[in-house]
Amino acid sequence: MKLDTKAIRYLTAEDWRVLTAVEMGSKNHEIVPTPLITQIAGLRGGSGVHKCISSLAKVGLIAKVKNAKYDGYRLTYGGLDYLALNTHRKASNIYSVGNQIGVGKESDIYVVASSSGLQRVLKIHRLGRISFRTVKANRDYLRNRASGSWMYMSRLAALKEFAFMKALKENGFPVPEPIAQSRHTIVMSLVDAFPLRQIASIPDPAGLYAELLALIVQLASYGLIHGDFNEFNILVEEKTSTPVPELTEANPQTTLPLSNSDESKPLNPTITLVPTIIDFPQMVSIDHPNAAYYFDRDVTCIKRFFSRRFHFTSDEPGPFFADAIKHVGKRLDVEVEASGFSRKMAKELDAYMKEVGADGDAGDAGDGEDGLDDNPDADDDAPEEAEPSDFAETLSAGDEPAIEPTQLPSVFGL
Ligand code: ADP
Ligand code: MG
Repeated sequence: MKLDTKAIRYLTAEDWRVLTAVEMGSKNHEIVPTPLITQIAGLRGGSGVHKCISSLAKVGLIAKVKNAKYDGYRLTYGGLDYLALNTHRKASNIYSVGNQIGVGKESDIYVVASSSGLQRVLKIHRLGRISFRTVKANRDYLRNRASGSWMYMSRLAALKEFAFMKALKENGFPVPEPIAQSRHTIVMSLVDAFPLRQIASIPDPAGLYAELLALIVQLASYGLIHGDFNEFNILVEEKTSTPVPELTEANPQTTLPLSNSDESKPLNPTITLVPTIIDFPQMVSIDHPNAAYYFDRDVTCIKRFFSRRFHFTSDEPGPFFADAIKHVGKRLDVEVEASGFSRKMAKELDAYMKEVGADGDAGDAGDGEDGLDDNPDADDDAPEEAEPSDFAETLSAGDEPAIEPTQLPSVFGL
C-alpha cells in the first residue's frame, strides 16, 4: 500500500480529532458506530462531525461499513499512516516524506526528512498484507480483535523492532539509530550503504565473513538470535581511511606530507567494509524452543551467500549454537521484555508470523540464485517503484521553511 501524503496538509484540527476518535473507538469496536465517533470526538454540534467524517472517508482514511445492526466506520491503513505521521510531525521527527526505497512482504520503507533537513528512514509495518484469513480461522488469540488484527499485529511488529534496535544500539551493536516509534511505524537513521545482496565483489571476503559470523555469536552471547540474518538485512558501507605514518626518531613529522615525496612512504588508503544489521521483527531469544534451528539458519545463510557470490568457503566448521551460548552475559532478550514488549506480545506476533510463513526475506532469495542480478530492481526487497522525488510533500503547510527536494543517495540506484 502506497503512502499518499497529499491530503495530510488539508486536514483541519477537527478532522484530526475525528480521525483519532475512530482510532480510539476501534479498540473495542470492529465497526465504530457514528454516534460513538461523535461522542469520543467531543465536538459540539453533530453536523461538524458529519462533515469531518465525510471528508475523511472521501480521502480514504476511514471507510464506511454497513453492518446488519448499524452503520459505522473503520480506520483504514491510510488513516493509521496519517495518525502515525502526525505524531512524528508533532515530535519534530518527520517534516517531509520522500521516496519509497524498499518494499518487503510486510513493510514499506521511505526516506523522510526532519525539520532540519536530516534524512531518515520511516519503516511502516504492514502485517496482514498477505492473508489474515488463515490466521483468523485458526487462532483464538485473534477472536476478540477480528478486523482490527492487522492494526494490532503491525503495531506489535513496530514495537518489537524499536525495542530491539534500541537495546542493540545501546550495547554497541552496528544497527541504525532508533529515533521514534508510533503505532505501526518506526523512524530510524538512514544508513548510506548497499545491502550485501547488491555487492558483486569485495576485496577481502574472509574478513567480512568472519565479522558477520562473529556478530551472530555475539548476539547469542547477549541472549539473541536475529532470525533473518541474510544478504538483504546486512547493509555494507565502504569506509576509506588513510593510515597515519608512525612517528619515529627518523621521521618526527607531526603532520601528513602534502605529497608523497621520495622520503615518505606512499600512503595506501585502506578500504574497510562496515556492516550494519537491520530488520528485527523476527528476533528470537536463545530460550526459544527452536533457537538452535534459527541460529543455524542464520549461519547457513551467510555461508551459502559467501560461497555463491564471492566463492569463499571457510575451512572452519561452525559456529555452533551450543558453544555460542556458553558465555552468555547481559541478556537483552530479558531487558526488552521488561521494557514493554512483553512475553505475551512476543507470543502473539510469533504465532502470527509462523501462521503466514512471514519469517523473513530468506525465502525470497530463490534457491537457484548464485550470481549478482543484472537488475537489482528485480529483487523482492528492492524498490518497487522509482518515481521522481515528491520530497517537497511537506506534512504541514505552516510557515516553516520548505526544504529543497533532495536526491536520494546514489547507493539506492534510483
Ligand atoms: P523488510 O522487513 O520489509 O525486509 P527491512 O527493514 O529489511 O524491511 O528494509 C527493507 C530494505 O529497506 C532494506 O533491504 C534496505 O535496502 C532498506 N532499508 C531499511 N532500513 C534502512 C536504513 N535504516 N537505512 C538505509 N536503508 C534501509
Ligand atoms: Mg529485510
